[in-house]
Amino acid sequence: MLVVMKRDATKEEIDAVVERIKEFGITPVPLPGAERTAIGTFGSTSRAAAEAVESLPGVAEVVPISRPFKLASREVIGEDTVVRIGDVPVGHGHPRSSPYTFRGMGGEGLEILAEARAVSGLPIVTEVLAPGDVEAVAAVADCLQIGARNMQNYSLLDAVGEQTKPVLLKRGMSATVEELLLSAEYVLARGNRNVILCERGIRTFERYTRNTFDINAIPLLKRLSHLPVLADPSHGTGKWYLVAPIALAAVAAGADGLLVEVHPSPDHALSDGFQSLSFDNFRALMGAVPHVARAVGRTEQVATP
Ligand code: PEP
Ligand code: MN
Repeated sequence: MLVVMKRDATKEEIDAVVERIKEFGITPVPLPGAERTAIGTFGSTSRAAAEAVESLPGVAEVVPISRPFKLASREVIGEDTVVRIGDVPVGHGHPRSSPYTFRGMGGEGLEILAEARAVSGLPIVTEVLAPGDVEAVAAVADCLQIGARNMQNYSLLDAVGEQTKPVLLKRGMSATVEELLLSAEYVLARGNRNVILCERGIRTFERYTRNTFDINAIPLLKRLSHLPVLADPSHGTGKWYLVAPIALAAVAAGADGLLVEVHPSPDHALSDGFQSLSFDNFRALMGAVPHVARAVGRTEQVATP
């Protein structure tokens, strides 16, 4: 359930609601908002608990939450969440693109990324593979990526939820939209509210493409959740010549940003060269993004490098 407090509810009234919820063996999660506080809950809520809370001073209403995910849900948080990666805002009309080229290099990779950030001024996103690496990666990266293969690695989700750097959570290749949101819930429930969702294609029977980019997922996630949604057309297609059309389709569908693999010489890339854009193709894509955004009535500013 979601307990919505009155605008003028006092701190004492909010605390009393929190305590009353606990008495029913339910975990309350206060969600302070710009205008009023709401209190979400974990665990199944009995009718008795809802009724007991409803009659407390300062309570405006008790809303039953129908979704299995709570903190990720738009029912609980109506406003778009904006997550800052370094000083780059992601979400609610702040699309960005992010080249992502290094992986699997361990500590040496982190040093290269830090140098790239110093030279370019761009914040860095890199994947963390194991709970034991979270601290070291978080010390350098501006945002921690959870890869598709780790979307349901719950100890890793707990670990990134317990630190403060933003988390870019990629959809597992066989995961449903609800499973993605439940994985986000693990991170949110540990206290880290800076989660960005990423559609990166799912596995289907189609073999011409590496994955099938699920365009449905973009507007669906925006409807179900307040979290920012990125599109990764590079892994979503696996073919460089499909990246731009699918990227533009994702912008039209409402994606808050793009995660695109770019390489100065895709033929020589150590990994994923066949789905990487050359600088010229990347520039052309970025030039097209504002036109598509405007054509579909997206009025927000679209930033290009
Ligand atoms: C990547 O972003 O390079 C990557 C490995 O992505 P995914 O986890 O989506 O396969
Ligand atoms: Mn890759």
